Amino acid sequence: MKPKTKLIHGGIVGDPHTGAVSTPIYQVSTYKQEGVGQHKGFEYSRTGNPTRHALEELIKDVEGGQAGFAFASGMAAITAVVMMFQKGDHLVLTDDVYGGTYRVLTKVLNKFGIEHTFVDTSDLTQIETAIQSNTVAVYLETPTNPLLKVTDIEATVQIAKHHNLLTIVDNTFSTPYWQTPLAFGADIVLHSATKYLGGHSDVVAGLVVVATDQLAEDLHFVQNSTGGILGPQDSWLLMRGMKTLGIRMEEHEANTKKLVEFLVNHPQVSKVFYPGLPEHPNHAIAKKQGTGFGGMVSFDVGSEEAADRLVKQTKFFTLAESLGAVESLISIPAKMTHASIPADRRGELGITDGLVRISVGLEDAEDLIADLQQALEA
Ligand SMILES: *Cc1c(COP(=O)(O)O)cnc(C)c1O
Repeated sequence: MKPKTKLIHGGIVGDPHTGAVSTPIYQVSTYKQEGVGQHKGFEYSRTGNPTRHALEELIKDVEGGQAGFAFASGMAAITAVVMMFQKGDHLVLTDDVYGGTYRVLTKVLNKFGIEHTFVDTSDLTQIETAIQSNTVAVYLETPTNPLLKVTDIEATVQIAKHHNLLTIVDNTFSTPYWQTPLAFGADIVLHSATKYLGGHSDVVAGLVVVATDQLAEDLHFVQNSTGGILGPQDSWLLMRGMKTLGIRMEEHEANTKKLVEFLVNHPQVSKVFYPGLPEHPNHAIAKKQGTGFGGMVSFDVGSEEAADRLVKQTKFFTLAESLGAVESLISIPAKMTHASIPADRRGELGITDGLVRISVGLEDAEDLIADLQQALEA
């Protein structure tokens, strides 16, 4: 099946009991047993729920793995994955990971003895250098947020396998429509499904897909033990969103290309970060490992004041955190999504106060360009 078909015909299609073409919302906590332990595959909804199961089967098929898992948020998914490790284990991670990932590792999971080193994973030698005797996994986010740096997944997997490490990829920005990390040998792929997979700014959710039965068993144990599951209503809403992921991603990208061309040529924009630009330092890798470049763009307008002015002036770009939805969003990473990263560290990473990030929505590109133009020139 091609990607667009898989999004609609993957997983469990419809309801075998009634013929309903969409999986119903099984709003239920427990299930009748005919005798002790004799049931139809469901005992209690923390352990498994038919609506959540349909979603988990869908993301499993779309990412091409052994098993899928749905969590109450992207952060719950990331936390559950790290909880498969032990006290004293060490992770090597991309340095400009999502702010919440940085926070949970440096302020929460560190208290349980999970160690970490953040490096620029787009430079493979930095990954190699950061590996210690207690390292258990390399955790990538690619492309990154907000600088859209790209890491070579296949080359990272080679390094990781050589050292017997797992490779984990946060695939939120690309989505499985453009990039399937398991196909390059990654072991675990995860998502903030709140973003493109849901796609309509109406659900908070996290998804994980693992490549082996052992990882599936281990992650199900953590999911059932710690309980950060996605409820049936949100599972249903997420499946509804995912059916149109293919056409949405095509349109997000078509719009983005037009906006990037406008931004690159605008005198008030000093720099544009987009992996689809041939001059982007990781353009070749982005092209090799994905079928598209996505709908996220960052650009520098030179100063905090200019960035502030811009985000106050836009009409169709709503000032908000998050990304990946039908409506275009605009944000200042240094003050919003990345505010929990200390200022000196932001400086090291290149997240300047004049950096503006946009998530290009599905409005008409002409309206979006006109909006940015009037805001930049106001
Ligand atoms: C939003 C986001 C997360 C966190 O997901 P939530 O659903 O907000 O908990 C993790 N990684 C990336 C790349 C994100 O954009």
